[in-house]
Amino acid sequence: MRLAFPFSAIVGQEEMKLAILIAATDQSIGGVLVFGDRGTGKSTAIRGLAALLPEMRVVDRCSYNCDPDAPEKALCEQCRTRKAEDGKLKVRKAQVPVVDLPLGATEDRVIGALDLESALTRGEKVFEPGLLARAHRGFLYIDEANLLEDHLVDALLDVAASGENVVEREGLSVRHPARFVLVGSGNPEEGELRPQLLDRFGLSVEVTTPQDLKTRMKVVRLRDEFEADPEAFVEKWKRKDGKIRRQILKAKENLAEVKVPDKTLQRASELCMKLGTDGLRGELTLIRAARALAALEGDEEIGDEHIKRVAPPSLRHRLRRNVLDDAGSTTRVERAIEEMFDQ
Ligand SMILES: [Zn+2]
Repeated sequence: MRLAFPFSAIVGQEEMKLAILIAATDQSIGGVLVFGDRGTGKSTAIRGLAALLPEMRVVDRCSYNCDPDAPEKALCEQCRTRKAEDGKLKVRKAQVPVVDLPLGATEDRVIGALDLESALTRGEKVFEPGLLARAHRGFLYIDEANLLEDHLVDALLDVAASGENVVEREGLSVRHPARFVLVGSGNPEEGELRPQLLDRFGLSVEVTTPQDLKTRMKVVRLRDEFEADPEAFVEKWKRKDGKIRRQILKAKENLAEVKVPDKTLQRASELCMKLGTDGLRGELTLIRAARALAALEGDEEIGDEHIKRVAPPSLRHRLRRNVLDDAGSTTRVERAIEEMFDQ
């Protein structure tokens, strides 16, 4: 297997890295959409993060990466049957998956479909799991999400939100767990996502090719070093990656304990009202992202500082176009924060 470039060796791109850490800490945030130029390390960051996470315990021979320690209702049908028959499940270790969803992938391949071979040769109706099954408990990466057909993006977002894939067709009736962090990349110049779809991604970030000389040199030097000897490079960054691993694990453990004081919630709602975001998803994401950030930093409650830092990725893709204001969405969020918090 090819080694992933270490997450901790990624230079700059702070907002993207933070957004991915936040989405990995609290999966209910609903994934990250990354806008930016080609070659800015969008998929590198996901692969790097997945590689530093501890191996998962999975049920052996399960097509859905079922967690042997999960409650019965969270298991797939096969595992439930096996557990009932054998009393316990055989366990193996597996790396956290990063599944690529290629452009042009059919709905069958993504969601799963009737296994035609079994149907034709043995007359059995067997479900052939799709990419969603493989992504369970890991990451699903969609390159150029803006070029994907709307109905497919819609289906993906549904599964990402519910954590379950339900297939009812061709005489099949299958449901299986599919919890993953959805990461979509988009190139702002090639087609836009419908606002309804945009709104369903938890966070959005913008990445650009670094413009200062020193950063560029550092990026090139590290990349060159990695490609010359991946093993040695990964070894060299192991300690720093380990630190991030412990940070995420601890944050997940403490997430539920982080307090959200009324005064901070009020600030979050005021900010969303000021920006005129539709519905309440903006506030909800803002609070959840702030809570995950606080957990990552070992803070016991969220305050203005957390809100300020996560507001741009939580809100910039939820703003309606304002004909009287042609400033970009990032500028509008930053301006609102400045007016509200820095007095
Ligand atoms: Zn299973």
